[in-house]
Amino acid sequence: GLDILKQCYIALKNAKLHKLNGYAYFHPQMEEETTRRLDLVRRLRSDFLANKLEVWFQPQVSVNELKVTGFEALLRWPQADGSYIPPSEFIPLAEYSGLIVDIGAWVLEESCRALRELSTLCGRTLRMAVNVSIPQFRNLEFPNQVERVLQQYNIAEGRLELEITESIVMDDPTMVIEILKRLRSRGVGIAIDDFGVGFSSLNYIQQLPVSKLKIDRTFVQQANTSSGAVLVETISRMGQQLGLETIVEGIETVEQLNYFRQLKIAEAQGYIFAKPMPLAALKEMLELGQCSLSLLSTTPK
Ligand code: C2E
Ligand code: CA
Ligand code: CA
Repeated sequence: GLDILKQCYIALKNAKLHKLNGYAYFHPQMEEETTRRLDLVRRLRSDFLANKLEVWFQPQVSVNELKVTGFEALLRWPQADGSYIPPSEFIPLAEYSGLIVDIGAWVLEESCRALRELSTLCGRTLRMAVNVSIPQFRNLEFPNQVERVLQQYNIAEGRLELEITESIVMDDPTMVIEILKRLRSRGVGIAIDDFGVGFSSLNYIQQLPVSKLKIDRTFVQQANTSSGAVLVETISRMGQQLGLETIVEGIETVEQLNYFRQLKIAEAQGYIFAKPMPLAALKEMLELGQCSLSLLSTTPK
């Protein structure tokens, strides 16, 4: 009896998750999948507590001068065999289980510490972009956490940027706008990540205290089709007319870079400059390139 109840519960979860037509049959694979996910969450928790997670950094570059302007912090989960579980697989689990609240706080702190080191190395103030998830926003301590690390690492105004997605805003607009206002008043930049990919109303964009639009990689790939180009050009013009900074991510070729330069997009991020890498490798690369030249030739394999 207990087994059947458990299996019903798994099927029910599945029907809700996949928004099936109101019902789902139980299949043994569903149980295997649930067990696998639970196992991953357990391992993620213990690896986090054992300090085995890593924060890597990917440079952001000014399109005109090809100077490094900042970095995006990206979480990495190394495995014993040297491989990495992709963030697209474990971040949703970390969000679902609530683990992202503690992990996110740690990412924030590591990123600010790294920003200090990198700014010292380059002899000028740079910027650090950190991804934030919905459960972090729901945690009442979050704005205090941010203020604490800003103080602790003496991060100047405008140097820390939080990347949020449209779905965070739509989750609870009133609460999120309140928190964003508070963060902005402390000099924290807010970038809308994956802009244009969600289906949310454009109306919210002008009510939000955001400072930057981050044009998603899918638009870079579509820019060479005529309908794709219309979208890209509309988005970039809209950002500029609303007085927002703009950055494009996922730039891989010189043609793509030139295209966005001509659209007057200020900054870019992508494999053409550098892939995300550990802090030590990044420092080495910046030292070699004196933090300024095009990273095209110095990107490690
Ligand atoms: P995202 O925030 O959109 O991050 C950009 C992703 O694009 C990264 O994938 C980056 O490695 C990849 N990328 C950058 N340049 C290029 C390029 O030129 N070509 C291609 N094909 N890809 C490029 P990554 O590191 O696998 O991260 C995936 C997602 O996981 C991130 O997407 C973000 O949503 C999430 N994530 C990563 N770290 C964190 C974190 O610390 N906290 C939270 N909440 N989410 C994170
Ligand atoms: Ca991001
Ligand atoms: Ca993105």
